[in-house]
Amino acid sequence: MSGTIIVGAGINGLLLGALLAHDGERVTVFERNSFPGGRAFLHERDGFTMDYGVHLTRFGPASALATIMRRIGAEVSFRKLGPSYVIDHNGRKVLFPTSPDGIFKSSMFSLAEKVRLIGLLLKIKKGMLNDGLMETSLRDWMNMNRVTGGVRRYLELLSASVMVCPFIEQTSAGEMFRNLYRVFTTGHSAEYLSGGWKPVYEALIGEIRKNGSIHFGKKVDSVIINKGRAAGVKAAGKKHTAERVVINLPVQELFTILPESKFDREYVTLCKNLVPTSGIFFDIALKKKIADYNGLLYTYRPMAYGMLTSNLAAGLAPVGAQILTMLYPTTMEDIRDATIRMERKEELWTAIRKYFPDISDHILWTRVSCLRMVDGAQVNIRQTEDRRPGPSVPGIAGLYLVGDSIAAPGAGGDVGNESVLLTYRAMTGTVLTNAG
Ligand SMILES: Cc1cc2nc3c(=O)[nH]c(=O)nc-3n(C[C@H](O)[C@H](O)[C@H](O)COP(=O)(O)OP(=O)(O)OC[C@H]3O[C@@H](n4cnc5c(N)ncnc54)[C@H](O)[C@@H]3O)c2cc1C
Repeated sequence: MSGTIIVGAGINGLLLGALLAHDGERVTVFERNSFPGGRAFLHERDGFTMDYGVHLTRFGPASALATIMRRIGAEVSFRKLGPSYVIDHNGRKVLFPTSPDGIFKSSMFSLAEKVRLIGLLLKIKKGMLNDGLMETSLRDWMNMNRVTGGVRRYLELLSASVMVCPFIEQTSAGEMFRNLYRVFTTGHSAEYLSGGWKPVYEALIGEIRKNGSIHFGKKVDSVIINKGRAAGVKAAGKKHTAERVVINLPVQELFTILPESKFDREYVTLCKNLVPTSGIFFDIALKKKIADYNGLLYTYRPMAYGMLTSNLAAGLAPVGAQILTMLYPTTMEDIRDATIRMERKEELWTAIRKYFPDISDHILWTRVSCLRMVDGAQVNIRQTEDRRPGPSVPGIAGLYLVGDSIAAPGAGGDVGNESVLLTYRAMTGTVLTNAG
């Protein structure tokens, strides 16, 4: 019995596996799908390499993803987004600012609102709003501070994109301000991998395979627990032993492979009831180039956003073609209800045509996804970082968790990448720090 078994070849299982393998650990990964990437898998068709929806990395070179890639000797670079736009409440397309200069140029705000927004962003930049607002919703904070008009719409849109949560009565104001603070201190907002995601997967898989193995199409049925210690897994009726087991499944699914009866009731409830973010995506392969936008494209109603991904990384689409991806974050209840789901899809399609009225003439194919889980945890006032399960599993030695539903800083997917650093630290004692 030696080495580490990782259940799941999602991006975070692979990132952790590559870090351990780089240290000389023998890593064995079991993945139920025939391909890597889980919710960040790549779809290759007709010369297009398409992410699953938008797949930006918050904080670019200062992200946990960049830190890990650097550590394994496979440094990645990022492309900053260009100007972003919003089709505002009145139906007009205006600049969606990402800098003080942009705030003054944008007609989203009155002059008084511009001054107010700059003042607010300065406070965030100085870290003045980092503490004490974790359990205050963005809506309550805005009401208390009489935030109205363009500034309110701007913060609502940031809640939808930065937090993947357009529900301002749910969004933790403290968590959102902490994320924005990090944007200011690092000088990096959401950025796109210059070469797309494919080279990242290739590097991670290559690193793990140097001294270990990845088994695709092999579903783990259960984790073997022996005298309070993780001792391996059972997959396809066979036992595989290891010194340590890491589970990369979202915590809502933990008890598909762990026996509930061995865990505290409160812990089981916490994991099972964690609310993920949900949403509808349109990923569109376009026969021809329809626009040069290289920033985010928002609509205020519905609160949706997306981008022309192939404008940020050449090579994702065939020459002269393009990829458009748009997300409409919504609730799990909306996704579950067939009628509402249809309505939401229609709303998103209408939003897309506000930017591109004749898009139908240029579509090669479209993938529509209605997802109950986009990110493992909605960073809402009841699920702030400190209220989610940690990297170690209580009561079971040698059993760890990694992924975007556990207690790690950030919002959306960067929670998962940050969790890799925390789980790595819990397993090895090594602290890796992000640049910036
Ligand atoms: C459409 C979409 C768009 C997104 N956009 C962004 C974005 O722009 N920026 C961002 O930061 N994040 C984004 N995210 C979130 C990001 O994709 C996730 O945070 C990330 O993929 C989660 O990775 P993970 O490794 O934690 O989990 P997962 O991807 O869920 O990986 C878990 C893996 O375990 C495997 N598995 C499950 N059960 C078993 C079993 N019994 N045995 C073996 N294997 C098993 C699964 O098949 C899967 O491969 C987006 C997500 C989606 C769905």
